[in-house]
Amino acid sequence: MSSEKIYKITNITISIMILILSLFVMVYTIFYPKITLKGSTTVTLNYKEKYKEKGYKAKILFKDVTNRVKVNGKINSEKLGNYKIEYTINYHGLKNKTTRYVEVKDLEPPVIKLTGGNPNSVCPGTKYKEEGFTSTDNYDGDLTKKVEVRNEEDYVTYTVHDKAGNVTVVKRKLVYEDKTPPEVKTNGDIRVAVGGKVSPTYTATDNCDGDITKNVKKEGSFDANKEGTYTLKYTVSDKAGNKAEATQKITIYKPAAPGTIYLTFDDGPQSGTTNVILDILKEEKVPATFFITNKGDDALVQREFNEGHTVAIHTASHDYAIVYRSVDSYWNDLNIVQNRIKRITGSETRLVRFPGGSSNTVSRRYSTGIMTTLTNDLINKGYKYYDWNISSGDAAGGRPTPNQIYNNVVSQLSHDRVNMVLMHDIKTYTRDALRDIIRYAKNNGYTFERITYDTPMIRQRVNN
Ligand SMILES: [Zn+2]
Repeated sequence: MSSEKIYKITNITISIMILILSLFVMVYTIFYPKITLKGSTTVTLNYKEKYKEKGYKAKILFKDVTNRVKVNGKINSEKLGNYKIEYTINYHGLKNKTTRYVEVKDLEPPVIKLTGGNPNSVCPGTKYKEEGFTSTDNYDGDLTKKVEVRNEEDYVTYTVHDKAGNVTVVKRKLVYEDKTPPEVKTNGDIRVAVGGKVSPTYTATDNCDGDITKNVKKEGSFDANKEGTYTLKYTVSDKAGNKAEATQKITIYKPAAPGTIYLTFDDGPQSGTTNVILDILKEEKVPATFFITNKGDDALVQREFNEGHTVAIHTASHDYAIVYRSVDSYWNDLNIVQNRIKRITGSETRLVRFPGGSSNTVSRRYSTGIMTTLTNDLINKGYKYYDWNISSGDAAGGRPTPNQIYNNVVSQLSHDRVNMVLMHDIKTYTRDALRDIIRYAKNNGYTFERITYDTPMIRQRVNN
């Protein structure tokens, strides 16, 4: 064969091969499945951020074959690193494949938290003292020890880096000022009996100036020998001009001295007795206490009140079967009298005496334990109840003479205690004994008081 012929054959072979190759490429581009990814093919995920598939599409020629795509690859976003997701397709032996690259990184900068203020007040003329801070990172955890602190004139700068290279910078502004007022403290309100020792004390401190007690200005005065309520006022300023004040109440009271007599009259009012008793008390200038019921004229109650006596609550019915039937029944009976007193005198009272006294046992017949409940309830609700330590014996039955009542009372009077005398202003013999009892007491140096909220409770033992 001539060399020219060989050349021609070779040329033809090459042309055919090129043609086959072109056909092959054409077939491939037209008939091979192609996968297209939605979104970027490289994804960066934050630590612990959930990977979300953005989607993909697969086509062969013009046919959608997305449902033939198989996705492989798992991403653990709790572990930093590089991950791959592979998308493969096999369409009747025509295969293709593409990949998405995912990197899990710590993208979050650390957090710095400042203790204390920002801006932070610094006492003028002093240096800022670090108030403290903490730093945490979502991946590295506690970074407090890694914080760099730089003190400048008007700022403190806190800088921290996490391992991934994220940086956080926090500035604390410093303001040289004192806006916090000082504090004045006293030893509290004082209550002392006339002639007693009164020792008010106080201190003043300031956040910047320290102890400034010596700068306190005191206003007001008191007389420990004179009954009354006095107010002491303390004022102080710090160097920056912030002011503070405190007040202290000094109460000088007349004690319920031993030898004091409280005349108490129960079960009234009643015309014929109460009005005469009021006349005697008026003439003798003696205050007393009336524990009233719902009976008698309002005018008598009005008089008791107008003439400076204490009008207090007994009960409306004074019927043990009603009063001590139940707790509700007691309160109902009490409230009727309380409303009566309020209606007549214009003011409410919480001073009480139980029919039969708190130690009565008659109430057991109607309700077991009721006295225990009622005595506690009264006190919890701010009431005070008063029994007695001297009984005139005017409720004992029989027909005592005024002289017997007189003897019962004066024989029990004592200079060594408060004398709480139980009497009944519905009894004629009590009425008729009263003036002599008062005269005896006066001649023997006793003084008379009426019950007020300051009067200590005279209580007997509860027996039910
Ligand atoms: Zn009574």
